[in-house]
Amino acid sequence: MGKRVLFFFLTFCFVFLISGKVYAGRQPVIVVIDPGHSGENLGAQCDGYVEKDLNMAVARAMKEELEKYDNVVVYLTHETDVDMTIKNRALFAKEKNADFLFCLHFNSSVNHNLFGAEVWVPAYGDLYVAGRQFAEIEMAQLTDMGLYSRGIKTRLNDDDEDYYGILRYCSELNVPSALIEHCHLDHDNDRGFYQDSEEKLKAFGRADAEAAAKYLGLSSTEKGIDYSDYPRLELESKSEAVRPDKTEPDECSIEVVSIDEETGEVTVKMKAADYDSYILYYNYSFDGGNTYSELSGWPRPEWNSSEPEFTFTVTVPFDKDIELRTNAYNGFDVWKESNIINIPAIPEPQEEIKEEESAYEEIDPEMICEPVSDNKMNQEEKVQLIILILLISLIMTIILFAMVKMIFRLKSSSK
Ligand SMILES: [Zn+2]
Repeated sequence: MGKRVLFFFLTFCFVFLISGKVYAGRQPVIVVIDPGHSGENLGAQCDGYVEKDLNMAVARAMKEELEKYDNVVVYLTHETDVDMTIKNRALFAKEKNADFLFCLHFNSSVNHNLFGAEVWVPAYGDLYVAGRQFAEIEMAQLTDMGLYSRGIKTRLNDDDEDYYGILRYCSELNVPSALIEHCHLDHDNDRGFYQDSEEKLKAFGRADAEAAAKYLGLSSTEKGIDYSDYPRLELESKSEAVRPDKTEPDECSIEVVSIDEETGEVTVKMKAADYDSYILYYNYSFDGGNTYSELSGWPRPEWNSSEPEFTFTVTVPFDKDIELRTNAYNGFDVWKESNIINIPAIPEPQEEIKEEESAYEEIDPEMICEPVSDNKMNQEEKVQLIILILLISLIMTIILFAMVKMIFRLKSSSK
């Protein structure tokens, strides 16, 4: 009896282990894609484009592409344009036992001055690590497409929780997540990445799918791709939050390298640094800070570092005292003002321009007249030539007559 119990027990253990191994081997990776906004929540709007529609188009393309990989199940939090709370999106991912929730968005800024792509990740522990590891791969995909990287960031609310609801709820439910802001709808730098073609949105979806596949270590028999050993950034999980940088850059100063008084071009060397994050943009002012130029990207070797100094040329208006000043923006859009450099008004080089103009005027009529006078000379020459020929003919005729007359005289005298 004891032997029988032992036999059944061992058989049970064997079958359990085998089935467990087989089950684990076939366990699919579960991906949930959340197209940001829906229903009455339109999201950002620009030039007739509505964010919720763009997010859905990208999400569908991402799902289609991800489904080309083996052993993966992909869900959208909503397939149609229905109202859905952020909490329900996170709950949906939890219900599906998601390995990751990718939340897709497009951005716009209050002053319509920001451009580029960014990825927001949870601020705490393992969920920060997972979010950041994915975001590193995602950001590489987006910058490869030509987008300007605004970085990978965390944001906290007043209670020190993740600011973005989808990241907060997913973290509460222990679902790894990241929020992708593909580009800014309201900036010229980014319009070319989403406007006028559905194919551009599909390109975003395919890039997102590739980043997800790399992060999740998926393989595709159909595509002949194996990302099972794709490297992830090595990061330690910390108990305290990874905090956003709320302080302005530490350094921002300018000096004038040279002034071209002919063209009004001023070459400026700008130094800028933020020891907590990095420099993202700069702009400049000619009137001491009343009005500024559009933001330009600051040179950065990687998304999370920036060059310590940068030399650029601006063209200042003539006949105006210039109060030159710049701003340096950090990765979290907090800026610092530089020192002011006063440049006395550069007089517009008018005299030289007038001399050149008058010289041109003097030359101009000659250039027009010359061919005409050439023609006249030719005609006069022709007339003179004809008169000359006529004169010569006349003289020849006279000589001929004279000779004939002489011959007749000689003949008559000989008779
Ligand atoms: Zn959005």
